Amino acid sequence: MNPVEQLKALPKNHDFFIGIDSDGCVFDTMEVKQKECFCPNFIRHFGFQAASKYAREVWEFVNLYSKKRGCNRFLAVEAALDLIAQRHEFADRHIAIPPMTEMRAWITVENKLGNPTLSEKVRETNSAELKMLLAWSKEVNEWIEKTVHDVPPFPGFEDAVKKARQKADIIVVSQTPFEALDREWKENKLDGYVNFIAGQECGTKTEHLQYAAGGKYPPEKILMLGDAPGDQKAAQANGVLFFPIIPGHEEDSWARLGQEGLDRFFAGTFAGEYQKSLLEEFDKALPSTPPWQKKA
Ligand SMILES: [Mg+2]
Repeated sequence: MNPVEQLKALPKNHDFFIGIDSDGCVFDTMEVKQKECFCPNFIRHFGFQAASKYAREVWEFVNLYSKKRGCNRFLAVEAALDLIAQRHEFADRHIAIPPMTEMRAWITVENKLGNPTLSEKVRETNSAELKMLLAWSKEVNEWIEKTVHDVPPFPGFEDAVKKARQKADIIVVSQTPFEALDREWKENKLDGYVNFIAGQECGTKTEHLQYAAGGKYPPEKILMLGDAPGDQKAAQANGVLFFPIIPGHEEDSWARLGQEGLDRFFAGTFAGEYQKSLLEEFDKALPSTPPWQKKA
C-alpha cells in the first residue's frame, strides 16, 4: 500500500482526531534547519554568494519570521526568489536571478512537492534548472541528516500528547520528507504517541487531514496543531479546529494546550470565542511585510 492509501485506511479508534505539525511545533528544529542547512545551500546552488547577506535575510524572513513560515521548501524558493527580484542589492551587484520557469510551472500542478516527484520531472524534462533544484534539495536533506541531532521536543509537548491520546487518534501532518520525520520521532522515542507520520510524499497538509479524518470524524472533533499559517489553512480548508503553537512562545502554548485547550476540545467548547481569540493572537505573531520594505 502506498502512503496515501495507508493514510486513508487508518482505523478510527477514538471519537476525536488530532493532526500535529512537527518542525517548529513539536521540535525546536526550525532555526537549525533553516539557518544551517537550507540557507547556505540556497546561496550556493542559486549563485547568491555576492549578496549572501541579503539572500540570507530573505530566506530567513520567508521561512522563519513571516506568514510563509513552515511552507513547503519549493514554495519557499519561489517566495524567496520573488522577494530577491525586488531587492536592488542583487541588481546593483549584477547577480542573475534564476527565473525557475519550469519550477514555477511544476509547483502549480504538483501536490506532492518532494524529491521523488521532482526526480521524476527531471527524468522527463532533462531540465538544467530542475536538476539544480533537485541537487539543492538533496544536499539540504544530507546536511539535515548530518546536522540536526539531539533536538528534543518542546517542554510541555509530552504531557499534552499523553493527555490527548487517551481520547484522540493522532497523526503527524508535515511537509518534511518522511525519512527525516521518522528519524526524529524515533530518536526521541515519540513515535509511539502517533498512529501515522504523514510527510510531503503524502500530499499537502490539507490533504493529510482530509485523507486521515475527513468523513470519519465530525469537524468539531478534529483539531490541527501547528506553528505556521499553513497549518491554520489546512485546518480551515477542512473546516476543523486549530490550536496555534506560537513561534517564540512554544512552551507557553504547549502548557496552555495541556491545561486548557484539550479540555475545551474534548468538552465541545473550543469553537467560537475561544478559537477566535487563539487565531487573533496567532495572527499578531508573524508579519507579512519584510522589515527591509518597511524601512524603505
Ligand atoms: Mg511547523
